[in-house]
Amino acid sequence: MNLVSEKLLRLTQLRKQRPQYAEIYDFYSGLCEFLQDKDASWLDCSPELQSWPTRRQAGFPLLSRDAVQIDVPATNQFLCQLIDSLIELGKEGGAELQLVRQAFTSGQLASDQLLLACLEKNREPLEAAATAVEVPSALLEYVCSTALAFGLQQWRNRTPQPMLDDWQEGYCPTCGAVPSMGEFGGEEGQKRLHCSICATSWEMTRIKCSYCGNQESDSLEYFTAEGDSGYRVDICRKCSCYLKVVDSRELGEGLPMDVEDLNTMHLDLLAQKEGFAKGKIDQKS
Ligand SMILES: [Zn+2]
Ligand SMILES: [Zn+2]
Repeated sequence: MNLVSEKLLRLTQLRKQRPQYAEIYDFYSGLCEFLQDKDASWLDCSPELQSWPTRRQAGFPLLSRDAVQIDVPATNQFLCQLIDSLIELGKEGGAELQLVRQAFTSGQLASDQLLLACLEKNREPLEAAATAVEVPSALLEYVCSTALAFGLQQWRNRTPQPMLDDWQEGYCPTCGAVPSMGEFGGEEGQKRLHCSICATSWEMTRIKCSYCGNQESDSLEYFTAEGDSGYRVDICRKCSCYLKVVDSRELGEGLPMDVEDLNTMHLDLLAQKEGFAKGKIDQKS
């Protein structure tokens, strides 16, 4: 079963467990159904594999901007289809999405530059483009990062990936993005982090804040929510960041982590109410 089918299956299970999230699950299922038969050969990567062992030791992720090739006309075509699907699925933002669509079709927006800005977590080009088209920058960023995530995940699926066993950074070894979720798995409850963009996962020391690297156990805590077994929120009192963690020993291995992320939105609200933020990292690129 491919990644998109796994997500659809999990969404069907969760819709029964948490009917109050049905509207969000329907939207995300619709997006998954749209992506299910789409091709992403408009994005390809040719990372410098020979030098990566050295760069990796210094904390550089596999993909730098130069390693990513984006076919602009094919990407624009994909983006237009994606936007049409979002307009059909959403209840709001249709007029703004039409403006974004037109701007990609007319060449006013450079899709390759905006996807690369998402890869580099560089908000400036995204904000400038959003101002030019007169749409909220969060909307433009959502469209571009959805496309980038799909392109990178498809590239990872069709390309053998290098070993990542000695990576100990709190950001993704492949694309440099922050993790969306953590996971405890295996017999020993080994901690893994899951990238929010390219879906790479990598091992991480259990008693360590993935954002600031803090390893002092008295400032690393966690909380759980009642009736929510299998999930917890790790918090770091040093940098005031949090990370949601799935316990796969309880919920089963191989869950699609972006769906688990959606399914635990209430934990984001709880953590944020307590003054904790989703972590951001200034990684090397
Ligand atoms: Zn990644
Ligand atoms: Zn921290």
